[in-house]
Amino acid sequence: MRNFPVHADNSLRTRHSQISGMSFVMGEQDVTIVGAGLAGLMAARVLDSAGLRVRVLEARERVGGRTCTITGDVDNEPAANQLGVPTKTPVDLGGQWVGPTQHRVLKLINEFGLLTFQTFHTGRKCLDDRGRLSHYRSSIPRVSPLALLELHGALNHLDRLRQQVPLATPWAEDRARMFDGVSLEAWKRRNLHNPTVRGLIDALTRVVFGTEPSEISLLYFLFYIQSGGGLLALTEIPEGAQEQRVVGGTQQLAQGLAAQLPEGSVVVGAPVQAIDQTAERVVVTSTAGVHEARACIVAVPPALTARIAFDPSLPAVRAQLNQRMPQGSLIKCIITYSRAWWREAGFSGEVVSTHGPLCFVCDNTDDSGQTPALVAFIGGDAAREFAAVGAQARRDMVVQELVRCLGPQAADPNGYIEKNWSADPWAQGCPVGVMGAGNFRHFAPALRQPVGRLFWAGTETAMQWCGYMEGALESGERAATEVLALLQRQ
Ligand SMILES: Cc1cc2nc3c(=O)[nH]c(=O)nc-3n(C[C@H](O)[C@H](O)[C@H](O)COP(=O)(O)OP(=O)(O)OC[C@H]3O[C@@H](n4cnc5c(N)ncnc54)[C@H](O)[C@@H]3O)c2cc1C
Repeated sequence: MRNFPVHADNSLRTRHSQISGMSFVMGEQDVTIVGAGLAGLMAARVLDSAGLRVRVLEARERVGGRTCTITGDVDNEPAANQLGVPTKTPVDLGGQWVGPTQHRVLKLINEFGLLTFQTFHTGRKCLDDRGRLSHYRSSIPRVSPLALLELHGALNHLDRLRQQVPLATPWAEDRARMFDGVSLEAWKRRNLHNPTVRGLIDALTRVVFGTEPSEISLLYFLFYIQSGGGLLALTEIPEGAQEQRVVGGTQQLAQGLAAQLPEGSVVVGAPVQAIDQTAERVVVTSTAGVHEARACIVAVPPALTARIAFDPSLPAVRAQLNQRMPQGSLIKCIITYSRAWWREAGFSGEVVSTHGPLCFVCDNTDDSGQTPALVAFIGGDAAREFAAVGAQARRDMVVQELVRCLGPQAADPNGYIEKNWSADPWAQGCPVGVMGAGNFRHFAPALRQPVGRLFWAGTETAMQWCGYMEGALESGERAATEVLALLQRQ
């Protein structure tokens, strides 16, 4: 890798000029990266360590993208609201949990000297099944024997199906056409009859994807759960994706990666508007200037790539992919209390609701115990519905639901913080882009396919832990390796 031209001077020799009030930042770089989320920054780190000069252009005024840690006020964070007392401890409004088999993210946490702590999950959990509450302690909710039988059958069935999906080429699965031709909703209606079990699939889809099952191709769903190692790995707290949290918040990962790059490598407040490429160069135009390089990595989700003008136009399949992978709809709400009263009452704080509006709730107290808190997710249709009311009305609804499921002590929070990611112009939804029936087989092959000197990163392009921070890091590494291979040939 050290064959690459290494700078004698690591600074980017940035030239600033003021033309008609617009600040132009022009410098020399080998690779321009669009997006300073975990994917873009990981790509930058790999390329920088290989001796290449990188420039990361980020639309927001901060790095981290879908990771966002707030301490104090939310004034600078779009679509975030705070009511009551601001928390004194850091709160993750985006990605927050890490779990086993997420090797890259765990390694990075370790490298940056960050600590993790276990998500609290001791005590009784609550199932809200169409308004009927029941409590249970195991990982399987307390449901009727018939529902239990069907639930086990469904989990086994999905587990068998997902194991047949090859992660690198899910579209090449023998039955890809059949699986992609139906939505998860259609599969659910055909295979599940018990309303409780159907409702559990709905709740899972809302919290994991921010969608209803009708919005997802069965093939995409199977790929996604295979990519995380199975449904239980995705949904469990202990030994699952929700097992641990990062002390001080996950945005520190992006901040740590950015800080390791040569000064000036990351430009924030620089939305990229256009990308032009010739046989030798890629010219990226952002509001902060024009950047020319030998290659470009676009590390933003397909839905946001659609807002960039490409010249020459992207191949039709890639351009249409950008139209066919909308982000999920998820509102993340953190409700803080003076005491963790649910723990005192023997509850873990977990609630799964089959019919919403909250699809999932769990304990979100910080590691020091200073800020007792619950986190609640409003996903899918409910997120769309409740996006239309104000923050105060959403907060009141959330508190009312917590009172209904966990008891009257939920009525007196001292603070409330939320972020509706769909209303954030640089996310347009979360946690991940999804594919509807009939789309995955045709358009997924374009997700990672380079276009000349353009390469694609972002968690949506990952093979393992697609949709998660781990997937974002994997994608950044992969895209950087592809760029290195191209530049090495030239
Ligand atoms: C509410 C929520 C909960 C989640 N929970 C978890 C969890 O518990 N565990 C987990 O592992 N993952 C979780 N995730 C998902 C995780 O946060 C993401 O998978 C990961 O952060 C994605 O990183 P990325 O770099 O691929 O994309 P992003 O973080 O979206 O980065 C893309 C960047 O590109 C920028 N950008 C977009 N368009 C342009 C443009 N035109 N020009 C310049 N810049 C642009 C954006 O501002 C953004 O900073 C959650 C996400 C959310 C929102």
